[in-house]
Amino acid sequence: MEHPRITILPDHIANQIAAGEVVQRPESVVKELIENALDAGAREIAVFVRDGGKSLIHVLDDGCGMHREDLELATVRHATSKIRSLEDLQRLATLGFRGEALASIASVADLEIITRQAGDEHGWKLVCQPLKPQRIEPTDCPAGTQVIVRNLFFNVPARRKFLRSDTTELRYISETMIRYGLSYPDRSWTFHDGRGMVFQLQPQPLLERIGALFHADIAGSLIPVDHQTDLVRIEGFLGLPSIARTTKASQYLFLNHRPITNRALAHAIYQGYEHMLEKSEHPFFVLFIWLDPERVDVNVHPQKHEVKFDDERAMYHAVLEAVLQSMRQHELIPQLRVKQVESSAPLIAVPNSGGAPLVVNRLTGEVIPLQSPPTLPSSPGRPRSSSYQLRTEQPQWQPATSQQLASILAPASSSAVERETFPEQPRMWQMHNKYIFVQTDDGIMIIDQHIAHERILYERALDALEHASADRSQRLMFPVELPLNAREIAIFRELAEDLQRLGYDCCLHEDRATVEIRAVPTEIRPGEEATSLREVLEQYAEYQTIRPASARDNLAASYGCRAAIKAGDPLSVAEMRRLVEDLFRCRTPEVCPHGRPVMIHFALRELDRRFGRTS
Ligand code: ADP
Ligand code: MG
Repeated sequence: MEHPRITILPDHIANQIAAGEVVQRPESVVKELIENALDAGAREIAVFVRDGGKSLIHVLDDGCGMHREDLELATVRHATSKIRSLEDLQRLATLGFRGEALASIASVADLEIITRQAGDEHGWKLVCQPLKPQRIEPTDCPAGTQVIVRNLFFNVPARRKFLRSDTTELRYISETMIRYGLSYPDRSWTFHDGRGMVFQLQPQPLLERIGALFHADIAGSLIPVDHQTDLVRIEGFLGLPSIARTTKASQYLFLNHRPITNRALAHAIYQGYEHMLEKSEHPFFVLFIWLDPERVDVNVHPQKHEVKFDDERAMYHAVLEAVLQSMRQHELIPQLRVKQVESSAPLIAVPNSGGAPLVVNRLTGEVIPLQSPPTLPSSPGRPRSSSYQLRTEQPQWQPATSQQLASILAPASSSAVERETFPEQPRMWQMHNKYIFVQTDDGIMIIDQHIAHERILYERALDALEHASADRSQRLMFPVELPLNAREIAIFRELAEDLQRLGYDCCLHEDRATVEIRAVPTEIRPGEEATSLREVLEQYAEYQTIRPASARDNLAASYGCRAAIKAGDPLSVAEMRRLVEDLFRCRTPEVCPHGRPVMIHFALRELDRRFGRTS
């Protein structure tokens, strides 16, 4: 067979092919036209549609309008005023940039654009029909732009056939109108569906806009979110569990004003709601993410619903933290308020006028001689998140930190002695070698020991992977050998460097298909050096297929899962106490890395109510 000749497609065919991606239904036309209006700086946008947008879509704006020369180019493919260079593409400030929408629309519908720039005497009207030369003529019109799209897909029967009923198409359009109405509460929006006004909105604060678009009293069921990290700002509102729905329809996520869908971020939000919603329930949310445009790629999909972040993991955590923080502030998540957990002893440093502070045992009243004055309290280790500031009383008597006191305390005493000596410690019991009960100020908290430890190890591992620290490793007196199969060797190779950061020092002997372990992280218990490594490798391989997180995150989670104490391990009082202290030093103490709750709180109030006590 002779090779068919190659030719370059004529524009109208190329445009129609492109239109297949950009314009799928009337809703896509509405979306593109609204985005153009917003990019033109419109303060007022009106949308009229007829027959679900199939026969007419008319969008009016009061934006900057176009010159005649620009209008002429507007319907040419890849003609745009929004970017000029690759650099512009990397830091997009507009919703549009592909220069494809008007060209695509013009290839599958009758298009008319009427536009005037504010200073100009008269405006221009462009008429454009598929396969016909476009016409431009002067016209009288208000400043701004109107785009009129008639008979969508009249020349593409295959497309027309795929359209749904008018009411269904109208529903899609309404969804888009709601999305942009939410994203731009500071603009006026008018939406008319050919039979009546659907909504007419003046500029208003976001909360009022949400009320106007859903129902007026929804505000009482929303909690605000406002969270800022070095990378990103996240704000908006979360619906209380009481207004959760059975579908995902009421979930709105915006990135720099652009409505987006993103599975990982949605997962982070659900994670924040974990154990507050049933599996079949979906939270209501309107969340805005503000991020440096250089840190995100919007150009992954012609319709631009999907975006790619340069640091997906950091985004995931920022969103999760934003949700958790807002829930804590609004007391949807119980806070641990335990007296004196911070200090591991009943010893306190008392400021002493004109001399070194005194260290006093509050139980016995005994004053303990100090060689050198301790520096007064700073919290040990990493600063904990502010809402977890454990409540400590007595402003004039500052509790000394465990570190300061370590030097003057006797060497670690047995648990029996501790129990006797420190009766004022928060009361803790271990149940069935599995759960730790802690009496709190206003109730009781039940902590799952395995999950709690998992959380602690996960965060430590993340830190170690991020900022290599020297002292995570303990040398083994006698190196141990761990046989690995081919798959495990592959995973080991992939992770070798990060395993070292975690504290493993290993040498792979490929000829013997074994890895020699010379040092392990300090948290690994004696005897578990080899099994821990194998289990971490296995767990990692599994997480890579099911968790939407980065390799490092999955390694940290695997490590947390496999190195943690197990259900069934008996703990001494001191071990329990350390676990609880470490837990509340975590950034996100309330859920494990894969979303299971770490703790459950029963409020005294609730118990009183159940037992019929009125307080
Ligand atoms: P893009 O938005 O990706 O640039 P479009 O095909 O949607 O591509 O629009 C082409 C160009 O037409 C835009 O870059 C803009 O200069 C101009 N334009 C389109 N709609 C409007 C409008 N409503 N007001 C002012 N200019 C507009
Ligand atoms: Mg556009």
